Amino acid sequence: MPRSRFFTSVDRYFKKASVYTGLEPGLLDQVRTCNAVIRLRFPVKDDDGSIKVVEAYRAEHSHHRLPTKGGIRFSQHVNLDETIALASLMTYKCALVGVPFGGAKGGVKVNSRKISEGFRERLTRRYTAELIRKNFIGPNIDVPAPDYGTGEKEMSWIADTYQNLRMNESNSYACVTGKPVAMQGIPGRTQATGLGVFYGIRYCLEQEDDMKEYGIEPGIKGKKVIVQGLGNVGFHAASYLQKEGESLIVGIAEYEGGLWNPEGLDVESVSQFRKEHGTLKGYPEAEFIEESEKLLEYPCDILVPAALESQINLENAGRIQAKIIAEAANGPVDEDADEILTKAGKLIIPDLFLNAGGVTVSYFEWLKNRAGVSFDRMISRHEEIMKRELVEQMEILTQQQVPNAQRQRLIHGASEEELVVAALEQTMNYAWRKIREFRIEHNVPDFRTAAFALATKSVAQTYIIQGIFP
Ligand code: NAD
Repeated sequence: MPRSRFFTSVDRYFKKASVYTGLEPGLLDQVRTCNAVIRLRFPVKDDDGSIKVVEAYRAEHSHHRLPTKGGIRFSQHVNLDETIALASLMTYKCALVGVPFGGAKGGVKVNSRKISEGFRERLTRRYTAELIRKNFIGPNIDVPAPDYGTGEKEMSWIADTYQNLRMNESNSYACVTGKPVAMQGIPGRTQATGLGVFYGIRYCLEQEDDMKEYGIEPGIKGKKVIVQGLGNVGFHAASYLQKEGESLIVGIAEYEGGLWNPEGLDVESVSQFRKEHGTLKGYPEAEFIEESEKLLEYPCDILVPAALESQINLENAGRIQAKIIAEAANGPVDEDADEILTKAGKLIIPDLFLNAGGVTVSYFEWLKNRAGVSFDRMISRHEEIMKRELVEQMEILTQQQVPNAQRQRLIHGASEEELVVAALEQTMNYAWRKIREFRIEHNVPDFRTAAFALATKSVAQTYIIQGIFP
């Protein structure tokens, strides 16, 4: 059976990068192969009492480290190839950002926009029960998270179902991440992927040598941005780019159409409008573009595809005007398009790096659940005491009183969210530095190839240490 475009693209990216790893073919094959996969068909009762048979998957791409980790996608386009390709991207992503997990992914073939709340809950709980039965979920086995079409709510149903069926397990909340904070989630997880996208773009554009190579003015301030997909990742990425980065969001594309305003859009107000009206159509301060995919071809500095894979392909790649393509979604640029864009001198910030903020903060959530204590609880008060002492010593030495408001700002101990956000920024910056260094050291033509090669070497290293390969 012919493989899907997305699967083939990821596989070709891997093979292209293999050349720069110096690893033997058997070891490369082990890194590349999907280690385990299940295909499920199970019944779910619909609201009218009828039974719908649902198709679903879970792929654990790499068992080199356990647990495996990866989101669960609800989409009518879900298939086995897509699930495996997404799981493999998770393996490389975790390796790049130093998250000690193998990659996994789950997919449920339903139209997320067309199912009722009740059906959604029954479906999620049944899917979880099936995963438990097949040993494809557990704090030390495989830990799902949100992805396209799922969010906090589904994660809390998964945690609840797991707990009820695994009563005697300790740390059972660690079976899934992306839970609401009130249900042992971690502050900052909801926006983590989008915030990571923002940090990734910002840091990349600060590298003056690279910007010179690509003929781009360094910095994100004032850069014109078009975002595709105003979901979890797209909304938060656009929002941080606008508010913290002072970029200009000139276009927002959704499936029903897009908005265009060369003077800039207010992301929060666009999102609020769409929530209220169920569409972008009618938003007052912009031109409505019926064919939303056309918006990807409009003039801008940075194009941020944050919806689905293969959105930029052989058909439209030649018409992309953006100088930078920041892959917030998984696989938004297929391999044919990648070649065209790279030849045209565009800078592609690859998905396996750029959207790794989600799994990074998921890792923090998993650690917190395993420890049974939040990060700030152990250090916040101690930090406050130390800082207060420092400020008091400064006042004695300078004979000057620090104003009260400033004193409060200086001495307050970090909140859990501040710790998470700081660690996320540090992780993204460090990962990009390593990719850049690898690219320079091995004379790799582009950042995606460098990222794949670096991740492959890191996974392979674990197999070598485990003694599986000499
Ligand atoms: P989401 O369901 O929250 O949002 C996706 C948005 O894209 C929706 O608003 C949807 O209407 C829109 N969309 C769908 N088809 C479109 C089209 N043809 N044109 C324009 N918009 C379209 O999903 P998400 O969690 O934001 O995930 C988006 C992408 O980011 C996916 O590729 C996912 O795998 C990837 N990702 C997500 C996370 C995460 O933490 N949620 C982490 C890493 C990667």
